[in-house]
Amino acid sequence: MADRVMIVTGGSRGIGAATAILGAAAGYGVVVNYASNREAADRVVAEIEAGGGKAIAVQGDVGSEADILALFEASDRFGPLAALVNNAGIVDGAAPLAEMSAARIERMLRVNLTGSLVCAREAVRRMSTKRGGKGGGIVNVSSVAAKLGGAGQYVDYAASKGAIDTFTVGLAKEVIEEGIRVCAVRPGIIDTDIHASGGQPNRVAEMGPGLPMRRAGTAEEVARAILWLLSPEASYSTGAILDVSGARSILP
Ligand code: NAP
Repeated sequence: MADRVMIVTGGSRGIGAATAILGAAAGYGVVVNYASNREAADRVVAEIEAGGGKAIAVQGDVGSEADILALFEASDRFGPLAALVNNAGIVDGAAPLAEMSAARIERMLRVNLTGSLVCAREAVRRMSTKRGGKGGGIVNVSSVAAKLGGAGQYVDYAASKGAIDTFTVGLAKEVIEEGIRVCAVRPGIIDTDIHASGGQPNRVAEMGPGLPMRRAGTAEEVARAILWLLSPEASYSTGAILDVSGARSILP
């Protein structure tokens, strides 16, 4: 059992794994959710336990409401929920909208948007002081693509992240008197596996030198922003969306 639990969706790799590890160091018992890569999730749990922290790995597709309900039930058995990081997200191969199937668009929105909304719903049901909870924090992982638009590559992904920004602001206001702060981070180009998953394994190497900071960001740099937004240091920040993009969204 843990005293206060943080759920990190997609906590097995990339930004989610870095967030899980920093979350454990901050004293959370961490629920490391993953879709299919059990070994990666187990590695994150082992690293947390080796550092004296508490963590469990829980499989679940955030594109499935049944899986989300099972994820939160597993979390309830671990301890009281204090933080949710809606991090799990997917991209697809670069393509113009004219070439995208409805099935691709539907999957993108189901995983990136519906999944985050349903996870946030479950978190609010547990954390709301009006429902007997002790309050808590939610951080949604958006993307600077929400502002840039993803033209010619992935407007479906960018649109899903634009909706994440809108839902961050709306939910923040909705639960502002229920002890829950809701914020988001908008990462820029971050060095993780997601680019290879979208068919662009060299994206970080190719784009890094041309970025405003002349390099991509690291998963830990995004995780530090997430942990700050969840911490008491950010007590007056809600509905806030923090760019962690090395100015990518500001400069060309
Ligand atoms: P990543 O390295 O590809 O890792 C994705 C993680 O999400 C993995 O743990 C994966 O689990 C999990 N996942 C994927 N689909 C899932 C599903 N349906 N249900 C549950 N978990 C699922 O990705 P990342 O780069 O760290 O990205 C994390 C978040 O940051 C995403 O929301 C992404 O859109 C956002 N972001 C990333 C960048 C970037 O440049 N990397 C930039 C802006 C925003 P398995 O290990 O089981 O596959």
